[in-house]
Amino acid sequence: MEDFSAVIDKCLEPVFTLFGEQQDIHQWFRDMSGAVCQDVLKLDPTGAECARVFAAQAAECFELNFNAVELQVKSLDPDYRTACTKGCSYCCSSHITLMPQEAFRIADMLRKSLGRKDLKGLLKEISKGGADYDEKGFRGFGEDYFRPCPFLREDHCVIYDIRPLSCRNWMSQDIEACKTSYESRNKISVPQNAILMIQKELVFAGQNAALSRYGIRGEICSFLPVLETILGDYEGSYEKWLSGEVLRGQLED
Ligand code: SF4
Ligand code: SF4
Repeated sequence: MEDFSAVIDKCLEPVFTLFGEQQDIHQWFRDMSGAVCQDVLKLDPTGAECARVFAAQAAECFELNFNAVELQVKSLDPDYRTACTKGCSYCCSSHITLMPQEAFRIADMLRKSLGRKDLKGLLKEISKGGADYDEKGFRGFGEDYFRPCPFLREDHCVIYDIRPLSCRNWMSQDIEACKTSYESRNKISVPQNAILMIQKELVFAGQNAALSRYGIRGEICSFLPVLETILGDYEGSYEKWLSGEVLRGQLED
């Protein structure tokens, strides 16, 4: 079992680099990460429903934190404007990463709501989207990723209520930049406020550290490959995950 603080520090490395050697700010982010996962620390993650409960807690916590921080950003910067609107979906062709518990929650909902034929069709589409994953690996796969998400239908997300935190975190200040990026048919880049962007990392780090107490790997996953793995064998994947194995599609280091 890894040390709780060490897991948080490892997850927050990309955030720390944004703030150089400012140790007081690093500590503030560490504390925030610990605080946002306080509720999940009280839960035993080894039950059959644990992934769904962890993912639901993560989404709720993220939304609360994000909204509070967004209000602060707006109060400090009168020029701050959000460009995102309903039906805007340039960002839905980007490489989505998510926590394994989020992937299990989505797969669980799909299994319960779709018929066998629809599920088979969806699995085929997901599998096509992640076909070059094994050859490229996690980082290579995300490098120049550009493909519409299989859950995007007529510019709307069909899993909106349970969409990953990464999707909730896209909040652009410049729609033209999103459009230009989309038209380049290469990795989508969205201009974002840095403080808002960090909210998802805090939840990822906190939940990863909480899971590590039970020897469960909480590293982020690439959306399509991990979903293909889980939908292909839900119970088997769940068992492997609870026993500490890394899933196909999950970052290993
Ligand atoms: S992030 Fe960009 S592409 Fe996505 S909804 Fe907002 S403005 Fe549209
Ligand atoms: S899950 Fe939904 S919000 Fe996220 S990329 Fe896919 S369609 Fe877009």
